[in-house]
Amino acid sequence: MDHIESYLDQFADFELAFFYKYRLETYMEETQNLIKTYIKKRNLDETKMKALVEEYANMKFPDNELRCPRCKSQKLDVHKGSSFGFTTLDPIKYIEELIGYKDINSGKISFTCKVCDLDFPT
Ligand SMILES: [Zn+2]
Repeated sequence: MDHIESYLDQFADFELAFFYKYRLETYMEETQNLIKTYIKKRNLDETKMKALVEEYANMKFPDNELRCPRCKSQKLDVHKGSSFGFTTLDPIKYIEELIGYKDINSGKISFTCKVCDLDFPT
């Protein structure tokens, strides 16, 4: 099963570190082993990943790009409307169109991080 590998290929090192911390245990054991093998191939280990998580958890960015508040990834799913029958939209497109923040604050739009699975705003 190399599906998980091609998925993880899209992740930067810090994203892998958060993925490992928050998502690993949501996978079946067999897949967890594939993930662990993949992480070794990327030259990461628990110590390096822990350092990345600590570094990114408190990182501030000077731009106004939309990022996951927890892991700072920009790999986000956008949900519009209620959780029943939501549509998943391209977040970048959303920001470009600047429909963003007013609707975010009123709860009409929410996001799920594809890396650490955080839903926000919560
Ligand atoms: Zn995240």
